[in-house]
Amino acid sequence: MDNTSNFIRDIIIKDLESGKHKTVVTRFPPEPNGYLHIGHAKSIVLNFGFADEFGGTTNLRFDDTNPLKEDIEYVHSIKEDVQWLGFEWDNLHFASDYFEEMYNRAVLLIKKGLAYVDDLSADEIREYRGTLTEPGKNSPYRDRSIEENLDLFARMRAGEFEDGAKVLRAKIDMSSPNINLRDPVLYRIAHAEHHNTGNEWCIYPMYAFAHPLEDAIEGVTHSICTVEFEDQRPFYNWVVEQCEMEATPQQIEFGRLNITNTVMSKRKLKQLVDEGFVDGWDDPRMPTISGMRRRGYTPEAIRTFVRETGVSKSSGAVDEQMLEHFVREDLKLKAPRPMAVMNPLKVVITNYPEGEVEWLDAENNPENEEMGIRQIPFSREIYIEQDDFMEDPPKKYFRLFPGNEVRLKHAYFIKCEEVIKDEDENVVELRCTYDPETKSGTGFTGRKVKGTIHWVEASNAVPAEFRLYEPLILDDDGEEDGEDDEKTFLDKVNPNSLEVLQGFIEPNMKDVQPQDKFQFFRHGYFNVDPTLTTPEKPVFNRIVSLKSSFRL
Ligand code: ATP
Ligand code: MG
Ligand code: MG
Repeated sequence: MDNTSNFIRDIIIKDLESGKHKTVVTRFPPEPNGYLHIGHAKSIVLNFGFADEFGGTTNLRFDDTNPLKEDIEYVHSIKEDVQWLGFEWDNLHFASDYFEEMYNRAVLLIKKGLAYVDDLSADEIREYRGTLTEPGKNSPYRDRSIEENLDLFARMRAGEFEDGAKVLRAKIDMSSPNINLRDPVLYRIAHAEHHNTGNEWCIYPMYAFAHPLEDAIEGVTHSICTVEFEDQRPFYNWVVEQCEMEATPQQIEFGRLNITNTVMSKRKLKQLVDEGFVDGWDDPRMPTISGMRRRGYTPEAIRTFVRETGVSKSSGAVDEQMLEHFVREDLKLKAPRPMAVMNPLKVVITNYPEGEVEWLDAENNPENEEMGIRQIPFSREIYIEQDDFMEDPPKKYFRLFPGNEVRLKHAYFIKCEEVIKDEDENVVELRCTYDPETKSGTGFTGRKVKGTIHWVEASNAVPAEFRLYEPLILDDDGEEDGEDDEKTFLDKVNPNSLEVLQGFIEPNMKDVQPQDKFQFFRHGYFNVDPTLTTPEKPVFNRIVSLKSSFRL
C-alpha cells in the first residue's frame, strides 16, 4: 500500500492502539457469479494490502449463497485472477460451508422471538415495506408463536414448501427510518442445486444475513465493502449482536471504482458475453481481469492504478486514460521496440542490388540500453505503412510523397521516384531510390529530412495479425451507482470497438510467445494473444497507443 493516510488505515491503527483488535483479519468476498473486473482489483488491493501492512491475514471467501446464479467455472477463474494480480490468500473459504451454522443462528433468533416465518409473497412483502416517507405495515404472520415458527422453519428446510411459499424474516421494526431494518428477509426457499452443497439444502440465507455471519465466523476484524452497503450497516451489526457471535467485525465502506467508457457490474458484463457483443469474459475489450490480461495489461500496472485512485467515500469515475498511463509506465523500459507494418504498401528500391540482403543493427529499446541490439534485414523490397505515403499531401506532411525524401528507421534515406497504380487508381507500389551515404549509425550529416518512418524487409517478413481496440462502451461518465436501465447501457455499446489488420513483423519475432509484450515503433504497446496466435501467425492485441494526454 501507499503510505499516504486514508480513513480506513486510520480506523485500523486506532483499533490496534486501543486494543480492540490484536491483529488484522480481512477478506475478499466475491460472489462466484461472474469473472472479476478491475473494480474487484481495487477491493483485492485494499483487503490484502491492509492485512499485509499490519502483519495480518486475508481470506479469499466465496460468497456462494445464491445457487441460481453461481457456477464452479467462476470459482476457478476468480482464484486464477487473484493470484495473477499477485496476491496469495491465507485461508480459502466458502460461505456455503457455514450453512449449518447459519441455520442454527437463525433458529436462535426464532427462539429469542427475533425472527418469524412469513407467508406473504415477495410482492406483498415489498408492498408492506413502505417507502422512505411512509412507514411499513406488519405482516399478518408476524405474531406467530415461537413454537410455530420453529416448526415451520424446520419444515422449510425439510423441503415441504414450494419456492416462494414462505420466507424467514427478522422481527425488528416495520416503521424504522432505515428500510433495511423493516423485518428483512433472512432465508428463502430455492429448490436448486448448489455447486458445493448439491441438493442438501432447499433454503438459502440472504446476503445481508449471511455476510455478517461469515465475517464473524472467520474472525474478520475489518470488513471492507463498497458504499452501497452503508445503509446495511445497522442490520449487519444487529445480526452479529443478536446471533451472539463471538467476534465483532466492523463494516467499513469505501467508494466504488468507476472508470469512464466502462461498465463494471458483473450482470452487465455477463449480458455482453451472453448476447454476443464480445467473444467471452476474456475478450480483450472487457474490463475483466482476464480480459485485461489477454489485452496485455500487467498486474503491476493494475495494482499501481488502483492504488493511485485512492480511498474515499465517493465513487466518481476515473478517466480511463489514467489506467493507460500506468501500463505505458510499466512497459516503457521492459518492452522491446521492433517495427511492424499493419497496412502494408510495397516499396521497391530501384538502385539497391537485386538479390542482396544486408543486416543492420537496431537498438531494442533506446530508453534501456541493457536490452541490447538486434539485427534486422534490409533489401531491395520493403513494406511501409499505406498511411506514410500521400500522392497529393497537405502542407506539413513530412512523410513520403513524390519527390520527397524520408529516413527509414535504423536504415537509409529513401526518395520517392515513381507511383504504381492498379486499374482502379489505387496506389499498389512505390519505386524509390536510396542513398548509401545516409546509413543509420554512420554519423551522416550531409542533409536533413523531416520524416522518419518504419518498415519491414519484404522477403523475410513474417505475416501477423493486429487487433486494435476502441472503448466497448461509449459513456464519459462511466457507470453510475444504481444505474439499472438495460436499454441505455446496451445503446452505449460501441459498434466499432475492434479493428483487425493483416500485416508484417520482423523475422526475428517469428517465435514470439503468448503474452510477450512489445512496443511497435509508432504504433503503441502490443501483447501476443494467447488464444488466437498460431505457430504460423502471431496475433497481437494493442494494449494502448503511444499518445497520451494524461498527466498525473
Ligand atoms: P458487481 O455489481 O460487479 O457484481 P459485486 O459487488 O456484486 O459487484 P462481489 O462479487 O460481491 O461483486 O464483489 C466482491 C467484492 O468486490 C465486494 O466487497 C465488492 O464491494 C467489491 N467490488 C465490486 N465492485 C467494485 C468496484 N467497482 N470498486 C470497488 N470494489 C468493488
Ligand atoms: Mg455482491
Ligand atoms: Mg453483484
